[in-house]
Amino acid sequence: MVQREGIGISPGAVIAEAAVLRHDGMSVEHSIADDSDGELAVFSAAYSSALSSLDSALVSSDDEKAMLMMLQTMLSDPEYLDLIKENIRERKYNAAWAVEAATEKYASLLDKLGDGYFSERASDIRDTGYILIDAIKGESLSAFHLTKPSILVADYLLPSEFLRLNSTFLKGLCLDGGGKTSHIAILARSADIPAVFALGDFSFHAENGVTVAMDGKYGTAVIDPQKKVLSEYRQRCDAAARADAELLKEAGLPAETTDGFRIRLMCNIEGLDGIDGAISSGAEGVGLFRTEFLVLQKSYLDDEEKMEHVYQEAVMRMSQYGPMTFRTYDIGGDKVIEGMGINEENPILGWRAVRFCMENKDLFRSQLISILKASAISDSVRIMFPMISGAEELKEVLAFLEEVKSECREKGIAFDEDLEIGTMIEVPSAAITADVLADYVDFMSIGTNDLIQYTIAVDRGNEKISYLYQPLHPAVLRLIKHVVDSAKAKGKRISMCGEMAGDADYLPILVGMGFDELSMSAHSILEAKRRIRLLDKGSCTQLVNHVLSLPDAVSIEAALKEFSEQYGKA
Ligand code: PEP
Ligand code: MG
Repeated sequence: MVQREGIGISPGAVIAEAAVLRHDGMSVEHSIADDSDGELAVFSAAYSSALSSLDSALVSSDDEKAMLMMLQTMLSDPEYLDLIKENIRERKYNAAWAVEAATEKYASLLDKLGDGYFSERASDIRDTGYILIDAIKGESLSAFHLTKPSILVADYLLPSEFLRLNSTFLKGLCLDGGGKTSHIAILARSADIPAVFALGDFSFHAENGVTVAMDGKYGTAVIDPQKKVLSEYRQRCDAAARADAELLKEAGLPAETTDGFRIRLMCNIEGLDGIDGAISSGAEGVGLFRTEFLVLQKSYLDDEEKMEHVYQEAVMRMSQYGPMTFRTYDIGGDKVIEGMGINEENPILGWRAVRFCMENKDLFRSQLISILKASAISDSVRIMFPMISGAEELKEVLAFLEEVKSECREKGIAFDEDLEIGTMIEVPSAAITADVLADYVDFMSIGTNDLIQYTIAVDRGNEKISYLYQPLHPAVLRLIKHVVDSAKAKGKRISMCGEMAGDADYLPILVGMGFDELSMSAHSILEAKRRIRLLDKGSCTQLVNHVLSLPDAVSIEAALKEFSEQYGKA
């Protein structure tokens, strides 16, 4: 039994078999492959991709250069390559196993020659093997099919990998690393998959098929649990199911405080899959459609018609419940799409979202036209721009939208002339100048995931520094308050669509600040509604005034906890 405590990412308790995915180890499937030619082709594609990834690797120090040269030399060693091919042709090993076996043969010979120089060379050759095996897995990751109900246990997972998994069988997700607001966390919550991240070396202890028990609320996970632990987790599974059923009963009630302050609770989605969950949890619209996730599933990229169809279907299915807010592509950052020329040393501060779209105008134009066409169906469509950093950038993007609208008019393409336009506020410079930005838009929506990341200079996906990722940091709260007040002063609607909105513990502060709308994962809506119905706006406003006078996140958290114990937590 191996027990670990990490970060609870998406609630729910599950017990299921493990399906293990490790990117950086020598964990490979051993299978006899009759189709040697096919395996040789897999190996040769992986070999070319490994070589080109080394060729394009960015190295700065002499040590890194030496390491790169060593890997390139190893990769061109004819004896090593011949042995791999021999393993495939004569022993009928599958490609990854053939690499593993050849690598181990060389490395263990060197190991036997002693410590120091030889054992270092052995570790070099193992590194070479890892690179090839990673490349083989990359080639065949789409073949990482879950064939039965499983908890995926992995070192890490990329958003594109998550999207390629067979979600019917994905019952839970345990990752060695990852932060609470990483995109993989957002995807897990959105798909309502229980998840625990930052579990350290968890994936190294798991094997395919072993029983894993996990609890996404409390951030715990166990491999091969003993009887007593297993029965404890069974009880947690039952309790979680009962609590969900109770919350579902209240899905139809309004999110209204005891003194009559009404908030619109909306849902964040990444595709059509999210709409049923949004409706069943009582969402009054979609406050954030992360459209770039459709592009990550590449088949949508070159197929404008397919994209238009998705947007239109989304609007049709949601329009009776509330608005559909399309956020234009937030491509870049950790959502890099191969073949788009994004290869940066610092992608989070780099060429992403509107910065990328304004230089890829054909792509941007085609998305804007799709959204405009969808707006002809219902007046519930809204458009929202991500990563706006200031008025100049916002004006340029709005001018481009006007250009696209004119083109549509000329071509006779119908759209809603009163379509609402909003900007996300997720960059500190935008938050500070929110009073200026408010003049140009109908609504503003605060993306706290990025706003916190950029304000505190803390990578939202890095578990090592997750202690610094503080939604209650006074700097963050002051920025949020300024944005809310700026929107209200200009009579504009104010919303929050970052993960902070979906954490029920922060609701007294958000209610007190006076948000008109909060947008979150479907699962969070039910709990948020229950909590809001226990709060009164007057006390929440007083709480906000009090916490804004406090010096740090710790004292703010203590004040919030004290408040919640008094009101609003049943
Ligand atoms: C945010 O930054 O809070 C946000 C909603 O956008 P994303 O999480 O997609 O970056
Ligand atoms: Mg963001």
